[in-house]
Amino acid sequence: MKEEVEVKIKRGLESFQTDTYKKRERVYHTLETKQNPDILYIGCSDSRVSPEVILNAEPGEIFVLRNIANKVPSLSKNEVDPTTMSAIEFAVLVLKVSSIVVCGHSNCGGCAAALSGEKGLSELPFTKHYLKSLEELSEKVTREASDKSAKEKAKVMEERNVLEQVEHLKEYAFINERLADGRLELEGWRFDIGSGQVERYDEKAEQFVPILLNQKLHTD
Ligand SMILES: [Zn+2]
Repeated sequence: MKEEVEVKIKRGLESFQTDTYKKRERVYHTLETKQNPDILYIGCSDSRVSPEVILNAEPGEIFVLRNIANKVPSLSKNEVDPTTMSAIEFAVLVLKVSSIVVCGHSNCGGCAAALSGEKGLSELPFTKHYLKSLEELSEKVTREASDKSAKEKAKVMEERNVLEQVEHLKEYAFINERLADGRLELEGWRFDIGSGQVERYDEKAEQFVPILLNQKLHTD
């Protein structure tokens, strides 16, 4: 490990143990042998979008699954990803979470790579293979948002990608039956790195709206 990274890590661990952990000692002791989170959060691996930070969450509150571009494999398209599906299966069937949130974000490198096509991914064979499932969506967005700026097009891609992954979740019987009887709810979110705000897809309004309605996103 690089020396300055090592120093930073030790400083962080020390602060966690003497301050953060101390303040939550009782919570950690209660959680020592069990967890009971309400939310399964499916987000991007991006270092700027940690859900515990965004939601100011306590330990034990969120079961987190992160991968590039917050993807869920499509059952109907025979996509296979046991890493992702085992986390979802465990959260739903064992932990019995009541909500699944799929959260995208602004300036998502995964969505941008999917939009720019295979040309930028010749050196990244695994990523190229992984992002293949976003090809159809990125072509659609490129067609439909052809009159929009690159920034707007990226936003459309990030939003549509969230909605597509939410639809993929509905393809699994164990999720669908829990949606039908109300044991489970699905939500699509997008976190804006530049403003710190989170928007949620509103099915009635057919658009993403800020979760905190009194706060407007500043987009510049
Ligand atoms: Zn991302």
